Amino acid sequence: MENIMKCEGFNYAFDQNACQSCSGKCCIGESGYIWVNEKEREAIAQKLNMPKASFIDAYLAKIRYRFTIKEIAYEGGYGCVFFDMEKRSCSIYEVRPEQCRTFPFWDYFKENINEVAEECPGIIRS
Ligand code: SF4
Repeated sequence: MENIMKCEGFNYAFDQNACQSCSGKCCIGESGYIWVNEKEREAIAQKLNMPKASFIDAYLAKIRYRFTIKEIAYEGGYGCVFFDMEKRSCSIYEVRPEQCRTFPFWDYFKENINEVAEECPGIIRS
């Protein structure tokens, strides 16, 4: 079934079916920040059935005034702590942060399409 997403201002589309055969390249690889806002912190803590403060201590790092999800060393690079290495998928998928939901349509990639196309097998250039 065709499952193509488009986003205004981007000169590529995204085939969501590609996620099924991808090994989670957008969740592992180079180290980076995965920002989590207040509402998202609540939702993830709830899903994990943890008090918010314990969830923050265990899974987030504070960078100035923002929180990012911790990473662990993985396959010569890094992986998000919520990436399930066995199933090769996000373990908090339904409550994943906005940053993850909007991938691969990030402003940065408008000018760097080669970078996102290298990482994501679902990119379809227009
Ligand atoms: S929260 Fe989920 S979708 Fe986002 S980087 Fe981590 S494993 Fe990937």
